[in-house]
Amino acid sequence: MLTRRVPAYRNALPFILLLTAACAKVPEVPKAETWSWEVDRSSLPDADLYAMHVATITGARSFFVKGGGKGKMTGPVSSYLIDHPTEGLVLIDTAFGRATAESRKSYPGALQASMVGLEMGRPVVEQLPEGGFDPADVAHMVVTHLHMDHAGGIADFPGAALWVDEREWKAASKSRLPGYKTGPYDNADPRFLDFEGTAPYGPFPGHVDMFGDGSLIVLPSPGHTAGSVMVLVNLPEASWLFTGDTTWVDDHYHGPTPKSWMARTVVEDDADAAWEGTIRTHHWAEAHPELNVVPGHEPATVERLNNWPLPENVGAVGGSLVNEASSAPDVHEVEVHGEGAHPVEEDGRPDAVGDVGQQP
Ligand SMILES: [Zn+2]
Repeated sequence: MLTRRVPAYRNALPFILLLTAACAKVPEVPKAETWSWEVDRSSLPDADLYAMHVATITGARSFFVKGGGKGKMTGPVSSYLIDHPTEGLVLIDTAFGRATAESRKSYPGALQASMVGLEMGRPVVEQLPEGGFDPADVAHMVVTHLHMDHAGGIADFPGAALWVDEREWKAASKSRLPGYKTGPYDNADPRFLDFEGTAPYGPFPGHVDMFGDGSLIVLPSPGHTAGSVMVLVNLPEASWLFTGDTTWVDDHYHGPTPKSWMARTVVEDDADAAWEGTIRTHHWAEAHPELNVVPGHEPATVERLNNWPLPENVGAVGGSLVNEASSAPDVHEVEVHGEGAHPVEEDGRPDAVGDVGQQP
């Protein structure tokens, strides 16, 4: 029988392509001198910002960060709530939702859950009433991307509008890509964020001002996924940049230091584009120490942004703490407790400090 010999290089082709992709040149990004950022805080609506940490994920630190050393890292999976005076309640990311709390076989799936070392706490829909909020009052959700640890809770808020980059929506709809499962947002009614032709904002090439009042600015940051975005919250007292998974931890934008080769190659849709977003964040934080950067899974976030109510913590941590060089040890450990993690005070509001995350 005649068999056609396959040249040896053909077997190596996928690896050559992978290497080429991993080593591709990173595009130039705008230097700080070429852009400016000013916020007129006197005209901003008096919104409140709250953090909810609903789960932890654990993995090798050397996977999260290039040259990250030995040991494991446990980072939070979080959702953030804006109580906006005229637009109602807005969620930035939903984290894993009720479906994951009830069975991790549903979302994200038992295999994925074990691979990322998922420890599920309580979903946002259950935490909201403890802060005195009715989940039915959530009017808007804006997601940094549609991976389950950021978007799994969408189904818990059927009455809320979903703001998402259309590229992300299309990518997630294929659903075979790692991290995506369409179930939680099968019935969602998306409002597509369109950055085409929009004006630059800070170091980013475009932006969408969600409510037209400067309080919530969505920035295009494709790379980690096809339609990843960052969300900037401008409050009268400070600004907070939620990077989604463009940066996972402080080291990424501090350094700046890339993710591991494995993460860049296996997880990222376009690792060079994600790195570009990281550099933009780096320049922004360098030029504006008053900008509070919140990476997707930085362990110290739990300590900085304790659960309810965040506004008190804004004063407590100051505006520039998160831009100081990280003195954290190589191994980060945080804990999200399960039942009873949010002791409720007699006035019906949860205790502000130490509810959920505690550094050992
Ligand atoms: Zn994530």
